[in-house]
Amino acid sequence: MGTYPTPLEPAPRLAAALGLDQLWIKRDDLIGLGGGGNKVRKLEYTLAAARAHRADLVVTSGAAQSNHARLTAAGAARLGLRAVLVLEGHEPPAVTGNLLLNRLFGAEIIWAGEVRPAELGTRVAAEAERRRAGGERVEVIPFGGSSVLGARGYEEAGAELLRQIPDLDTVVVALGSGGTMAGLVNALGADRVLGVDVGAVDDPGAAVLGLVRGSPSLRIRRATSEYGRLTTEVRQALQLVARTEGVVLDPVYTGRAAAGLIAAVEDGSIRPDERTVLLHTGGLPGLFGHPENSGIYA
Ligand SMILES: *Cc1c(COP(=O)(O)O)cnc(C)c1O
Repeated sequence: MGTYPTPLEPAPRLAAALGLDQLWIKRDDLIGLGGGGNKVRKLEYTLAAARAHRADLVVTSGAAQSNHARLTAAGAARLGLRAVLVLEGHEPPAVTGNLLLNRLFGAEIIWAGEVRPAELGTRVAAEAERRRAGGERVEVIPFGGSSVLGARGYEEAGAELLRQIPDLDTVVVALGSGGTMAGLVNALGADRVLGVDVGAVDDPGAAVLGLVRGSPSLRIRRATSEYGRLTTEVRQALQLVARTEGVVLDPVYTGRAAAGLIAAVEDGSIRPDERTVLLHTGGLPGLFGHPENSGIYA
C-alpha cells in the first residue's frame, strides 16, 4: 500500500543546531497512503492477514486523534474493506485533524467515552462479537497496530534503513504502543535504538519487550508529562526542526522524539560523533487536531 524505500534526508542545519556531526531524518511520514506515517508499515501485515482471513470489516481503536485509526481507515478503503473505529472520548463539536480524514475515508466511528486503553480493547472485542453475530466477517486490528505481526513492518524498515546507512549508530523514535521500536530493535539491535516514550501506555518497556526476540536491555527515555500534552520542550523542538530544515513534526509523537533527541545530546547519551537518525513517523494531521494549541507555535 505504501511506497518504499522512504527517503533518508540529511539534516545538516538541525545537526549544527544540536551539536551533532551528522544527522538524518528518515521520512516515514512520506510513505504515501492516507497522509503517511509509521502505522502504514504495520498495516501492510495486519491488513494482509485480514484479507487472507476473508474479512469484510476491520475494527480497531485509539485516541480521538489516533493516526493508527486514520491509517486503518485509509488502508481498509484501499483494500475494499469497511472500517469501524472505536475512539476514546466523546464526539467533539469540531471535526478536525484525523477525525476529518476518518470521515473522508468513510469509516464508521464509535465513541467509547472516557475509558482506559485496556477498556478500549474490551469495547472492540464486544463490537467485533456483535458484528460477527450479525453475519459479518470481522478482523480486529490491535491497538496502535502493535502485535508481533505488525512489528514485522518495522523490522523491514530497519533493514531498509541499514541499506541506506550501513554504519548507523543510533535511531531515535517516538515510543507509543511499542511496535515501531520493537521492529527496529529486532533489525538493528537494542543498542542502536533510542525510544522516547510519549506516555501512551503505562509500561512502555514491557510493551516493547513483549514484541521483540529475546530480552535485550532497551534504551528508553520515559515521558515527563501526560500523553498529548504540549510541553515547552516539544513546542521548541517543533519550531527548531521547522526553522532549520523546513520539516513539520507533530505535537504528540515526533515532536517528543525530537525533544528527546535534543535532551539526549545535551546529557551525553548521544555523543556528537554518533551517526544519528531521527525517524519521522508522521502524525501531521494531529497538528491540526488540537485547535487549542494553534496560537502558540509562533
Ligand atoms: C503511533 C505513532 C508512533 C508510535 O508508534 P508505536 O509503534 O505505537 O510505538 C509514533 N509516531 C506517530 C506519528 C504515531 O502515530
